[in-house]
Amino acid sequence: GGPILAVVGRPNVGKSTLVNRIIGRREAVVEDVPGVTRDRISYDAVWNGRAFTVVDTGGWDPDARGLAERIRAQAEIAVTLADAVLFVVDATIGITDADEAVVRVLRRSNKPVVLAANKVDDTRAEAEAFGLWNLGLGEPHTVSALHGRGSGDLLDAVLAAL
Ligand code: GDP
Ligand code: MG
Repeated sequence: GGPILAVVGRPNVGKSTLVNRIIGRREAVVEDVPGVTRDRISYDAVWNGRAFTVVDTGGWDPDARGLAERIRAQAEIAVTLADAVLFVVDATIGITDADEAVVRVLRRSNKPVVLAANKVDDTRAEAEAFGLWNLGLGEPHTVSALHGRGSGDLLDAVLAAL
């Protein structure tokens, strides 16, 4: 129950790992092979006493033709259903064409967006996220979904947006 947070982004950026971190369980399917998440899966979450629903997205074959278009279409649906969007990018790789396709959807929507710069596993990696300010989506919240680094601050920003 509660407001809906959609977690969007291209395959393999760590969306499902981050969803597991947010819900405090290991239910979202994480794979080294990208694209395993089924289209949209909802989970109940609580942070600082506030209940909300997290929607994990995915389910694209990374080798499919027109991947960016599939991701864009999926993001469009998820964003429409959501009260706020958590846009996840891989800070160690930076912005790809598939990321840009999602950004265009986010810019057109009037939903609040929280930008997560994932895979910032240590202090050294922090610098890699600076370039993400150029997306025009506000502060890149650096996080390591894998280790939990920065996840509390990210969730504070998410609740402020919901
Ligand atoms: P999704 O396709 O966006 O849902 O990505 P997954 O959550 O399935 O993660 C894809 C791969 O990235 C897996 O091998 C994860 O273990 C890895 N991964 C996710 N978050 C992090 C992180 O914060 N740091 C590192 N180093 N790897 C991560
Ligand atoms: Mg996934």
